[in-house]
Amino acid sequence: MNRNPDPDCLFCRIISQEVAAARVYEDADLIAFLDIRPLFPGHVLLCPRMHCPTLLDLPHELVGPMFSKAQLLTKAVELALEAEGTFLAINNRISQTVPHLHLHIVPRRRKDGLKGFFWPRAKYQDAAAMEAVRAAIEQQARKLTG
Ligand code: 5GP
Ligand code: ZN
Repeated sequence: MNRNPDPDCLFCRIISQEVAAARVYEDADLIAFLDIRPLFPGHVLLCPRMHCPTLLDLPHELVGPMFSKAQLLTKAVELALEAEGTFLAINNRISQTVPHLHLHIVPRRRKDGLKGFFWPRAKYQDAAAMEAVRAAIEQQARKLTG
């Protein structure tokens, strides 16, 4: 059951079975189904049943269960697809095409063609620039943990 379905949300409509999807896992809080346009066969999307747009909106009590089921499904995907590894990703707002939180679980193999999938990497200008960024994030994390 979805406690707060959004009628305009595609994944809420999948969760309510208004839209069909190839489900691979479900429990009271979470659901996983095959991505309709997979990077590779076995590409799974794991979502909370409740409508929440991004990871930052996920209620604290669901963070643990979601990561725990991510681990379970990663194992299931690797075993089922005889994958050598997996790639997990969440788009928050930028590059997010469906605004209902979902974790991509993608089976990977060596030389599977996803090399270069990531954006080009850069270097910090110098140690001071890296330290400024490190300190800013540390400060925000401290504030958030109170
Ligand atoms: P995002 O771009 O938001 O990170 O990922 C959204 C994903 O949803 C895409 O990988 C896309 O292929 C998948 N998707 C879009 N529409 C549907 C659909 O109707 N059914 C399923 N199963 N997946 C969908
Ligand atoms: Zn939704």
